[in-house]
Amino acid sequence: MIEPIFDPTAWGLTDKQAALGRQARELAALKFAPRAAGYDREATFPTENYQDLADSGLLGICIPEDEGGLGADLKTYMLTAAEIGRFCGATALTFNMHVSSCLWTGGLLDQLGLSDTVRDELHTRRRLHYRRIHDEGAIYAQPFSEGGAAAAGFKAFGTTALKVEGGWRINGKKIFASLSGHANYYGALCTALQHPDDAHSRRNTMYIAVPADADGVKVVGDWDPLGMRGTVSRTLIFEDVFVPDEAQLMPHGVYPDAARRWPHMFMTLTPSYMGIAQACYDFTVAYLRGEVPGMPPVKRRMYPTKQLAVAQMRLMLEQTKALWFQAISEARPDPSKDSLMRAWAAQHTVMENANELAQLAIRTCGGQAMLRSLPLERLYRDSRCGSLMLPWTAELCLDYLGKGALYEQGESDDA
Ligand SMILES: Cc1cc2nc3c(=O)[nH]c(=O)nc-3n(C[C@H](O)[C@H](O)[C@H](O)COP(=O)(O)OP(=O)(O)OC[C@H]3O[C@@H](n4cnc5c(N)ncnc54)[C@H](O)[C@@H]3O)c2cc1C
Repeated sequence: MIEPIFDPTAWGLTDKQAALGRQARELAALKFAPRAAGYDREATFPTENYQDLADSGLLGICIPEDEGGLGADLKTYMLTAAEIGRFCGATALTFNMHVSSCLWTGGLLDQLGLSDTVRDELHTRRRLHYRRIHDEGAIYAQPFSEGGAAAAGFKAFGTTALKVEGGWRINGKKIFASLSGHANYYGALCTALQHPDDAHSRRNTMYIAVPADADGVKVVGDWDPLGMRGTVSRTLIFEDVFVPDEAQLMPHGVYPDAARRWPHMFMTLTPSYMGIAQACYDFTVAYLRGEVPGMPPVKRRMYPTKQLAVAQMRLMLEQTKALWFQAISEARPDPSKDSLMRAWAAQHTVMENANELAQLAIRTCGGQAMLRSLPLERLYRDSRCGSLMLPWTAELCLDYLGKGALYEQGESDDA
């Protein structure tokens, strides 16, 4: 039996958190782990895993219960997804893109105190998306990145949605669109325009589901990256794509407010890497004990240098888990500055430590452990990608932490 990353008793998990974690861990260990090397080698999308996720109900993990889903809140989702990340990082990362379309439009917005009119509009629109996921196994992607400053939150998106009769005309390009060619809908962030010559404003950011089979949607470019190869994050082109009004995932004006008031929503990229960090430690312990399936039962645990290295890994894993668990436990609208700074610290820690743990694991286990027949070298490559994810890259987290520590809101050094 594989132990949970977060023991339900020790970490005070709810029954739901414990049950979903168990379900995800058992599914991923049994089905996803044996397939992970193949998706990685061929850089192909984990289609079979998504069929399993649909069959198990996990595709609807963050759809509210009264709308037919499993009703997981942010923390419950994060704990569950980390268990998937242990066994297939690319599945966990793409799962995040899909789940965000439900989490953001579901539990997160329901806690924002929206006006009755806006809430009614949201509920009507989201029901359509939830039904597609629930009844048809539809998969949603989350293409935001454009290669400029927009995905970091500094500029309006270059992808535009122009208001036309009955809907919107979408034009633009999204890079690194995970699930491209495999999602049924692309939940794109774009700038809403009432007239073609309107100035682009971040206040008019719109979150809209573009059907993958709509006229004018193209997936271009190849995909042969260092890690997270199963995410198939190719380039998406929207060329004059007509999307009906009902495709909006959030009512007008809600996204900018949600992004500002619910900053923990950007932490949802971390569970894949929390899982990878745990997997690096688990592999190292099993390897040094001579218990890796398919390997000769050679023990290496008696060498003091190996014991010290595992101790160092354990320290780093405990520190990572503790900070991440605390940060996701604090997730709520309008967090204090202290809480927000802890979220940035946790994001940076998980993304950087996953890779640090992977490199320590390779150094400690030795040459035979980095052969492609074993998962460690994949964990090493996948783990390197975490720090690159906008809007909270490792660099930007440091930037925000430094400024946040030294400046209060509105302070400047201008004379
Ligand atoms: C495996 C993988 C899957 C991905 N999947 C998705 C996806 O599904 N959807 C999606 O939208 N994106 C996705 N991304 C893209 C990701 O979120 C980033 O947008 C992308 O990695 C940025 O690449 P870039 O070359 O444009 O970096 P740049 O924007 O050039 O950034 C490079 C670095 O500069 C820093 N930086 C960037 N902007 C600023 C700024 N304004 N001020 C200061 N520093 C800054 C950041 O630290 C960043 O790491 C994925 C990326 C990877 C690696």
